[in-house]
Amino acid sequence: MSYEPPITDYDTIVEDCTCAFCGCNCDDLDYLIKDNHVVAVRHACRLGASKIMEDIDQRLLVPMVRADDGELEEVEWDTALDKAAELIAHSIRPVFYGWSETSTECMKEGLELGEYIGAVLDNQATICHGPSLQAMQNAGYPIQTLGEVTNRADMVVYSGSNAMNSHPRHLARYAVFPRGYFRKRGRFDRTVVTMDPKFSDTAKMSDKWIGFEQNGDYGFYNAIRAVLKGKKLHADVISGIPKEDIYELVDQMKSAEFGVLFFGLGLTHTLSKQRNIDIAIKMVMDLNKDSKWGLTPMRGHFNVNGFNIFMAYETGFAFGVDFCRGYARYMLGETNTIDLLTRKEPDVFMVIAADPGAHFPNGANQHLANIPVIQIDLHWGPTTELADVVLPGSFIAVECAGTSYRMDGVPIYMKKAIDKPETCRDDEWIIREIKERVMKLRKEPNVAPKYVPNPAAE
Ligand code: SF4
Repeated sequence: MSYEPPITDYDTIVEDCTCAFCGCNCDDLDYLIKDNHVVAVRHACRLGASKIMEDIDQRLLVPMVRADDGELEEVEWDTALDKAAELIAHSIRPVFYGWSETSTECMKEGLELGEYIGAVLDNQATICHGPSLQAMQNAGYPIQTLGEVTNRADMVVYSGSNAMNSHPRHLARYAVFPRGYFRKRGRFDRTVVTMDPKFSDTAKMSDKWIGFEQNGDYGFYNAIRAVLKGKKLHADVISGIPKEDIYELVDQMKSAEFGVLFFGLGLTHTLSKQRNIDIAIKMVMDLNKDSKWGLTPMRGHFNVNGFNIFMAYETGFAFGVDFCRGYARYMLGETNTIDLLTRKEPDVFMVIAADPGAHFPNGANQHLANIPVIQIDLHWGPTTELADVVLPGSFIAVECAGTSYRMDGVPIYMKKAIDKPETCRDDEWIIREIKERVMKLRKEPNVAPKYVPNPAAE
């Protein structure tokens, strides 16, 4: 790697900014600013720094509406907002999807609009940690904050997560390397274990790698639970791991003073899905009879957890919340975005701070191509090609302030550092404007069922 001299040509430094990339929400960043641009970022990892500094690439700068010839045309804000409001006000089955890369304040406006119009509100959990949320509803949620991990944890386990690549500062800032109140020697006071079929970068820097076989998670965790309950293992090898290694691991886990299990989509999305997380939660509860243990999902988008916490607080359901009957309801496989789209139910789709065009299965995107799509985002992406109305937002934690929730559920205030482009607007403002315009077009809120997915069941 060639040497890059430090940036010295800047006007100001804005200290203690928060990274709006992954669920670590690192809030110790310094932005070096010149001519209203972030020219360098101190303390961030490469993922965070590249998002913060290169945000102008493919930036959506003006509102657009798709014209009759099929091309997106630049329009005034009023025209675009009126068009979006008209589509939503006249829809029967609107779905508002995304929210994980915007502020919780914006979600509040979205919830008011969704409740008023009878929409479905859903976020990226529907395609990532949704099974984890299901498992928490089934089995409980023995969590701890990342601050507790820094100060107390002497055993850290990563399961189905390659944090070195997906959350690069997770180890450096919170879980492994930092010195804590009870862990004065930092890394030397902690045992790190990676459980993953792959010998990942995280496994390389761990003290122990448990490379159980693909889809062997459930059997492996069950074996740990059996040993924790004093049972003998009859098979010599379980999920590809010799039973002696499992006995040794259980001894280590039981004798930890404070242990933490961080799990990623590698655990959530293998064959047993939410049952993997059920068993991991129960394993942590079993460990709490001998020691102190907690667990935390490695949330990806910086505020994906915020949507789930906010919606659970406001409606009782963490994602896939359907207001079509005039009250909040949630039914897995029925009120989640992919299921709705593959059943071709939505007639208007508003996507905010997400890119379903890049991430959804083909069948879901095919329906998106056939219905009006409203996009609120920073950058041009596959969803822009499907969109009928495009509303350029602004970058939370750089161009506007807002609140997000870290992966451990701690709310973080994200400050503004530079001005947004003159032609862009804050996400919160955009949603509020749409809401007010929809309320003018539809005088009454939705209080009665306006859409019955399965009339036979009524
Ligand atoms: S670890 Fe995540 S939040 Fe922290 S700087 Fe890197 S991308 Fe940003």
